[in-house]
This record gives sequence, C-alpha cells and structure tokens, in this order.
Amino acid sequence: MARLHNFSAGPAVLPVPVIDALREALPEFGQARAGLMEISHRSKDFQAVIDAAEARLRSLLGIPKDYAVVFLQGGASMQFYMSALNIAGPTDGIDYIETGTWSSKAIKEGARVCDARVVWSSKATRFDRVPQPGEALAVRDSAVALHYTSNNTVAGTQLQAAPDVAVPLIGDLSSDIGSRAIDVGRHAVIYAGAQKNLGPSGVTAVILSPWAIERSKAADAARPGGLPSMLNYALMAAKGSMFNTPNTLGIFALERVLAWMQDRGGVAFFEQRNKARADALYAVLDGSPFWTPRALPGSRSMMNVTWGIHDPALEPIFVRESDAAGLLALKGHRSMGGLRASLYNALPDAAVEALVDFLGVFEARHG
Ligand code: PMP
Repeated sequence: MARLHNFSAGPAVLPVPVIDALREALPEFGQARAGLMEISHRSKDFQAVIDAAEARLRSLLGIPKDYAVVFLQGGASMQFYMSALNIAGPTDGIDYIETGTWSSKAIKEGARVCDARVVWSSKATRFDRVPQPGEALAVRDSAVALHYTSNNTVAGTQLQAAPDVAVPLIGDLSSDIGSRAIDVGRHAVIYAGAQKNLGPSGVTAVILSPWAIERSKAADAARPGGLPSMLNYALMAAKGSMFNTPNTLGIFALERVLAWMQDRGGVAFFEQRNKARADALYAVLDGSPFWTPRALPGSRSMMNVTWGIHDPALEPIFVRESDAAGLLALKGHRSMGGLRASLYNALPDAAVEALVDFLGVFEARHG
C-alpha cells in the first residue's frame, strides 16, 4: 500500500523499514522466544537493544566519551523541570532564550526551582525570529547555564547554531536533533523528545556532561531528603536508564531509526538534504505575494516551515484540499494558526516535491 505524505509535527512520519521491524518484533523478538513488548527490560535481548541505541546515538552525534546518555520518560516537558532541578540550586540562576511556546514552558518550569531569567525574547513579535549569530544575549555573569530551544516547532524558527556564550548550555533539541551537526561538548544537557526525528513518543533522549552529573549529585545532597529518584540525572545515568522499567518498545523503535540514519549516511547526509528541501519550499513561498511565510529570513527552520495565505480565509480550504490530495497534517499549530509543513528526516523527498507541486496548483486555482 502506498503511504500518504505525512507532514505531522510530531508524533511524525517514521521510516518504512522501522515500521517493518516493529511489525516483525511484536509477535516474536529475535531469539527471545516471546514478543518485544513481552520480555523483561533486564533480559539480555533488551539490554542489547538499549546498548545499541546508545552506541548509535553516540556515533551519530559525536557525543564525547565522558558524557552520559539516558532514555527517559515524561517527554521533553519533564526535562523543562528536571534540567533546572539538577543543574541549579534554589539561589542559582539559569538564563533563558525565549523563542517560542516550548521555551516559555521551560522558563515557567525552571522558575519553580531556580532563579530563571529571560535574557532574550521574541514573544512581542509572535516568535517570528531567533537570535542571530553574534547578537548580544546579556547572559548574567552569575548564571550557571543558558537554556535555549534550537528549533521552534510551532513558530517554525531555528537557531543557526548553538548560542555562543561563556556559560554551559542546556539545549532542547526535540525537533531538530539528528538533522544537522551539533557541538555536543559545548552543552551540559541536551534533551530531545524522540517523536520527531528519533522515532516514537514516550522516549526522551538526554545527554549529560560530566559537570551536569556532578551538579545533579550536588543538588541531591543539598536538598532535604534528596532529589526525587525519578528526577535525578545522576541516578538515571548510574542505572543505565533502568532505575525503573523504561519504554522498551519506544527504545527499540528509536534504535531502528538510528540504524536507518546510519545506513543513509548519518547526520551529514540529512543536513545537506534538509537544507535543500527547506530551500525549495521557501523559494516557492517567497516567490509570490499569494503566500506569506511566517518566520523572518535568517531565523527560518529547516524542519518546520510555517506560512499563511494573503487571504487567511483560504487557509482552511488549503488544509481541506491538501488533505484530500493525500498531503496530511499541513494545518498550523492551534496557537499559531496558518499552515505548517514538518520536514523531518524520515519524510521522503517525494513528499516535499508533492507539496511544492500542490502549492502551484492551489495558487493557480485560488490566486
Ligand atoms: N520542546 C519542543 C521543541 C517541542 O517541539 C515539543 C513538542 N512538540 C516539546 C518540547 C514537548 O515535548 P513533549 O510533548 O515530549 O513533552
């Protein structure tokens, strides 16, 4: 059966070989003599899966050897709180770049446990931009870390590179991890909900520097009664993500996505392809006053392209007609309105080509 073109922002399209691998693993997994969802997370069969997932992520992203990698539950949203709780004491400051809905939520959660301060925001212009390379960020000398969202899934903006500041970085890479090269060594914490570029919902990849682990131990020691176990980075890392039962099915799917990425040529392959695809789409949107791209040039995302139509009354018609043409999930986020196409790694090129064609057809019909 031919699959339709799925532009969902997440959970999102998966590579077909990953879906096939899931289908095969469910009734009987390898030599386990039972299905993937029916075996112990402490079995050697599952241990091999989580070990491979970690090794592949390390290799794909170039994660330094002394960093820890864990696969947690609770989504990226839990990391908003957990990152601040482990890195900062109650009187420590974390500075934040506010570039969208998810940044705002991270700030709100961080403020519960530390002195959280916004040092840059584009909220006043509805998050149409992100800091440009070289732009001053006014990070406090006393701040222990700077939190940023590398790609803003809802607004359709993306930082060109990790912020260039003197303090350690906490990066929410949920919607662009694995789409381009990153300098992991500049980060104390990287977290990413898997349900965009890494596979299924219910798994969050968290990458921790040795300093972050030390800070976590200090936060645990400083807190009466210690940190809650499930929110303790050092404990999660020491237990190899198996303090409790991890999301075994999700980690299997993630491992298969990473294997697929390696087969295709790794992050360098996807980076070059993602740029070409986003450029093709923006060229159409910039090419006619019929379309109104949302994000400012220099801030635009390669992963989530957001735009409108000069006559907004045409937008619901666009959503209806594109859906009927087999182009799924092009409606913008409910908080932003307009239209959005998510171009994650697993989206086939044919989907972007079909969308470019459809834009031409729609404009000819309604322009
Ligand atoms: N950060 C970003 C950049 C996101 O796109 C999302 C989800 N779309 C989140 C955080 C929240 O993720 P979760 O639903 O896994 O908590």
